[in-house]
Amino acid sequence: MNRMLSQFCFGNPCLACHKVTQPSLAIPGLCRHCLSQLPWRLADSKLPWPPELTAAFTNQAIRNTIAHSDILVACRYDTPIREGLLALKFSDASEWSQTFAALLAALIARDTVHFDAIVAVPLHPKRLAERGYNQAGLIAAALATRLAVPDWSSQLIRARDTARQSEQKMRSDRYLNLEQAFRWQGNRNLQLARILLVDDVLTTGATLGAAAAPLFALGAVVTGLAVASDHKVPNIPYW
Ligand SMILES: [Zn+2]
Repeated sequence: MNRMLSQFCFGNPCLACHKVTQPSLAIPGLCRHCLSQLPWRLADSKLPWPPELTAAFTNQAIRNTIAHSDILVACRYDTPIREGLLALKFSDASEWSQTFAALLAALIARDTVHFDAIVAVPLHPKRLAERGYNQAGLIAAALATRLAVPDWSSQLIRARDTARQSEQKMRSDRYLNLEQAFRWQGNRNLQLARILLVDDVLTTGATLGAAAAPLFALGAVVTGLAVASDHKVPNIPYW
């Protein structure tokens, strides 16, 4: 059967296994088989904000808000999520953003997170110009459309072009490098605004924590949201 006819009969090929097969209804882009094999973090989807974020504030009310907020992670950084994230980041495979948004929407529905707006972790304008798009921004935009909530991503800017994370060896160096790297430039009142802060991959937590800092500072309640991470809690500090 030629490709067009097969697509007409069965739909588009699965983004993960590339076979034209029965699509899953819940998660666009994935076939039922790949959906059944997803590396969900079912039991450990909730992570705390990094202690360095709390330590950046002396205001006890803000420290309490951070302590009562979470980072939610949908999956382990494993096949086929890993390949999808790399394709989205480096190969302009924007169709994956719909798949990831659906995974995050499922996670939010399960944990009944309430929120007022979605914000993506921004790239510095220089990197945005190099790449042409922000992969976290694509996921956030797809999620905002899916959930019919406002996307305030343009209000959070990356003020400093920080050195690449992998070049920073020590955990504390990583955090210092990102401190005050992000700035909220919107004129909205963020007091008690419930914001979902979206990133693609959570590695050290430093980037997400630094991006959340100006939002918490303005009184927002921030829930971090990442598609994938291999970090474990509790016991050993994982940042
Ligand atoms: Zn598949």
